[in-house]
Amino acid sequence: MKTFYCACGQQLFFDSHQCVYCQSRVGFAAAELDMVSLHPDVKTPQEEGAPLVDPAGRRFYLCDNELAYGNCNWLRDEHEGPGLCVACCLNRTIPNLSYPENHRRWHRLEQAKKRLIYTLLTLKLPLMGDVGPSLCFDFVEDGRSNVDFADEVHNTGYLAGVITVNLAEADDVAMESQRVAVNEQYRTLLGHMRHESGHFYLDYIRPGQEAAFSRCFGDPQRDYGQALQHYYEHGPPGDWQSGYISAYASAHPIEDWAETWGHYLHITDVLETAVSHGVLPPSVNGMSMAERIDIWRGLSLTLNELNRSIGHRDAYPFVLNDQVANKLVFVDKMAKGLRTPAPAEK
Ligand SMILES: [Zn+2]
Ligand SMILES: [Zn+2]
Ligand SMILES: [Zn+2]
Repeated sequence: MKTFYCACGQQLFFDSHQCVYCQSRVGFAAAELDMVSLHPDVKTPQEEGAPLVDPAGRRFYLCDNELAYGNCNWLRDEHEGPGLCVACCLNRTIPNLSYPENHRRWHRLEQAKKRLIYTLLTLKLPLMGDVGPSLCFDFVEDGRSNVDFADEVHNTGYLAGVITVNLAEADDVAMESQRVAVNEQYRTLLGHMRHESGHFYLDYIRPGQEAAFSRCFGDPQRDYGQALQHYYEHGPPGDWQSGYISAYASAHPIEDWAETWGHYLHITDVLETAVSHGVLPPSVNGMSMAERIDIWRGLSLTLNELNRSIGHRDAYPFVLNDQVANKLVFVDKMAKGLRTPAPAEK
């Protein structure tokens, strides 16, 4: 992710609501993928929800989820009028907020979702497609996190445009115990969302790409239910590391795609962050995917060593061998083919 600054020069975070130095209200303008500093418009009545102005005189509305729940720092351009921002529009089900702990869980889910959407926007990927279903999110709970929903089971997953995330994933204890139970080295909300978004984009690229997909990942028509059942009963093949980014990727070609897609988004985000902080040169942005993977291999080792230096687990406990790298190059090609044209190109 790139580095953001307030109009006063102070660095901002992606989820900042206010500049800690000049106290200005700040928000994220999705159309320009940048944070803007805001102040009340002296020319309009100062009612709740009235548009705010940036130093250039442009007016923005706060997202309705900010006004109602304090849970979003994204903005709407004045011409869009008031309402939900482009990321909150994608929520089909939000947590039941009559349970106080769900405010905190929803906040964490939104932080991960916003970071996912940011990367999808930087890659110019469609969110509300013409060819397939629009992307949307269900944030739901079941008996694992709330006894009032003891009869319900909702697993984190993807179906027909909908990314479902179980609220338990937003609790540290529940997530960590699940991570240990399924023997994963890495489990995060952002990782879940990036993986599930891979299923969404596969719906877009599959028509016409079946043969190329099969050469890279295997036959996507293989019986999915049977393959997953076999994976959960017998685990991954002993040599899974020779061809897959993760053990779970070996379960089925479609899961291999989604895992690889998730890592493609991880790499995209971290390389952008490294360039914007001066850790890597700007020339990395113009490199081929194969070159970027080489850079990433070195950078992720450094990242892990930095983590170990302060007693943390490896940030990126994965190995990108040549077979996995080839899959990432394929994902990059598919992602570039999905780019939405800029308005002038349409
Ligand atoms: Zn400031
Ligand atoms: Zn919003
Ligand atoms: Zn999946």
